[in-house]
Amino acid sequence: MTVLDNHEENVQREKIARLSRSLYERGLTAGSSGNISVRLADGWLLTPTNACLGELDPARIAKLDWEGRSISGDPPSKEAFLHRAMYEQRGGAGAIVHLHSTHAAAVSCMSGLDHASCIPPLTPYFVMKIGRLPLVPYFRPGDQALAGAIRELAGKHSAVLLSNHGPVVSGANLEAAIYATEELEETAKLFLLLRNTPTTCLNAAQIAELKSVFKLDI
Ligand code: ZN
Repeated sequence: MTVLDNHEENVQREKIARLSRSLYERGLTAGSSGNISVRLADGWLLTPTNACLGELDPARIAKLDWEGRSISGDPPSKEAFLHRAMYEQRGGAGAIVHLHSTHAAAVSCMSGLDHASCIPPLTPYFVMKIGRLPLVPYFRPGDQALAGAIRELAGKHSAVLLSNHGPVVSGANLEAAIYATEELEETAKLFLLLRNTPTTCLNAAQIAELKSVFKLDI
């Protein structure tokens, strides 16, 4: 490893710890749930298993190779396979955030959702940061078959919602992945607030305009 790589790895370790604490302090993740990863030149970083995102030690964040083998740090989250599945399909993804955030998790438990687009296009910001959000079927915790279900969708979607679980969101870098996760959580909150209210969503022409003006790949 070069000195430059080492510097970049340390920068990313510090950033994961700082932004994870912010998510925890604002109630976006609770207890030891949620995990965050960042792609490096020579592997990837992932928050440790049973770690509270509010109290991460940057030096103890797990570093893995692309076969999932541990290189350094504490044992990685048991949801590592879910991150790998997303990275495998999205070459441009630099970071992935997976939370059990309350409102998105609540939506993931609702029946009658459109599995191709489980939160409607309520705002242009949701369309720009998430696009269409597909619903992944339920799998028990640790079931590696979840990786296959994510792989099927991740080529076309930067974010997915796991049934009775929570969102998995990728971004070009950690800030982008976190901002998109927060937009998803806020839109899930709007969706729940509006459940019994006649609602106007963005129409097809308005979504087409966003795609064209902002060069969206959704
Ligand atoms: Zn989870």
